[in-house]
Amino acid sequence: MISIQGKGVSNGVAFGPLFFYKRSDNSISRYEVENTEEEWNRFKAAQAKAIEQLGELAEKARAEAGDDAAMLFETHQMMAEDLDYEESVQNAIQNEKHNAEAAVSDTAEQFAEMFATMDDAYMQARAADVKDVSSRIIGILKGVVQGGIDSPVPVILVADDLAPSETVQLDKTKILGFVTEGGSGSSHTAILARTMGIPAIIGLGKQLPADFEGREAVIDGSTGSVVIDADDATRKMLTVKMEEQKKTQEMLNRLKGLPNETKDGHKMKVFCNIGSPDDVPAVLGNDAGGIGLFRSEFLYLNCDDYPTEDFQFEAYKKVLSDMGEREVVIRTLDIGADKQIGYFNLPHEENPAMGNRALRICLNRPEIFHTQLRALYRASAFGHLCIMFPMVTSLWEVREAKKMCERVKKELQDEGISFSDDVKVGIMIETPAAAVISDRLAKEVDFFSCGTNDLTQYTLACDRQNADLGRFFNPHHTAVLRLLKMVCDNAHKNGIWVGICGELGADLSLTETFLSIGIDELSVSPRSVLPLRQKIRDVNVAQVKDKILQMLMTDENAT
Ligand code: PEP
Ligand code: MG
Repeated sequence: MISIQGKGVSNGVAFGPLFFYKRSDNSISRYEVENTEEEWNRFKAAQAKAIEQLGELAEKARAEAGDDAAMLFETHQMMAEDLDYEESVQNAIQNEKHNAEAAVSDTAEQFAEMFATMDDAYMQARAADVKDVSSRIIGILKGVVQGGIDSPVPVILVADDLAPSETVQLDKTKILGFVTEGGSGSSHTAILARTMGIPAIIGLGKQLPADFEGREAVIDGSTGSVVIDADDATRKMLTVKMEEQKKTQEMLNRLKGLPNETKDGHKMKVFCNIGSPDDVPAVLGNDAGGIGLFRSEFLYLNCDDYPTEDFQFEAYKKVLSDMGEREVVIRTLDIGADKQIGYFNLPHEENPAMGNRALRICLNRPEIFHTQLRALYRASAFGHLCIMFPMVTSLWEVREAKKMCERVKKELQDEGISFSDDVKVGIMIETPAAAVISDRLAKEVDFFSCGTNDLTQYTLACDRQNADLGRFFNPHHTAVLRLLKMVCDNAHKNGIWVGICGELGADLSLTETFLSIGIDELSVSPRSVLPLRQKIRDVNVAQVKDKILQMLMTDENAT
């Protein structure tokens, strides 16, 4: 038995085989084949598998976001079985004796060049598609599985760390838990694990060598322990813990339908953070009052090209209609920093967290923003939509973004397309600048939602992604908490509500503080809704408020 210790960032116990995440790189080996018939059959098998995968993806996209969303995968399917394409690969294998990977790669280059030189813009855009389809076939030939998990049974996924673009592609049905070498509690792997309600352990360093692949492990997300080939006593202990967790969950389930109200009558809205329309059943299953943060950039991360207005419209409409009357806060694109997307072609930056990200990209590239806002307003006719802008630092940014909203509404009106006339517009408070001028910003918008992951990062000048900075990244820092109080006071003076959608919202050791400073809404992962409800129902604000506020504002308490 081998025991390793990391940092637990998502609770729960999971048993299963370790599986090391394999990144698909684009490199291929080239060699001459002797048995060309065998090589041709190898290609045909990979081609058939690619066509099958694309068919499944098309069906999934259709179910989630409609026919337009499925079309991309259907186009890829047609390319994979195109006769000219196939003939070119066959020629390279059978006449030139190239191995299948090289034959596909050369064919992709030739076809992409041909498309790129065409006059028609639509055909030019197909160059990226043919490359994409070919990478899928090459990946299959190399044994790399799209979605990263080539296992017949669910696994505990081991990775150095996972980029958001990688997490969106994972086959979630195959994952029992995550363990990562690096990472941080507010990294997107940790956020994904909490949204999925499975355990995650980060910061293991190089303690898990790759030859542990397939070995049975038990992970405990509450203690951060990873045990390989556990002995009977350890297995028993963790099985008991799993049973206890089940019982706790049953007890929490009894809170469904009850209000999030303190003993002395203070109400708190408890909403959820989601990254995909697929997360809505978990939101409803945990009886959340709404969605406080839909990270819309995950739609973009899941695409190979800019998602069209119709594609986005279908996804937003699905979330809004599934949520019925409940409020849904959809955040506009928050790309950049740790969430990079190839097709945005963003120039390399030395300091991307401080760079071209989120609202800055939307204001610099208004055509992208315009498409998203049109999709959002069109979808507003199907539910209770609130739109939220991320990474605000200045008043003019908010005014410019609102102008774009007005332009979009006018266009839709002129086109006779219906939309709700009651869409509330808010901003994230996740920079110290926004917090400090929140008195001014509050006059411009309908609500604030504090992004404490970034607010902590920028206030403490501490990279949220850097595992080595763990003890410096302290969201409980007095500076962060005082900023939150300042934001609450300014919001309420101006008659607007204020929430927290960063990971701190689910930190039960701060629930009393949030109630005392006047936070109106907490948006957390679906699994955190009921524990938070239980905590809120136990608090008596009148009893704790003065002490908490005094502690927060006195110098002796400064962190
Ligand atoms: C935040 O910064 O707290 C937040 C909610 O946004 P994200 O984690 O997506 O940057
Ligand atoms: Mg943020």
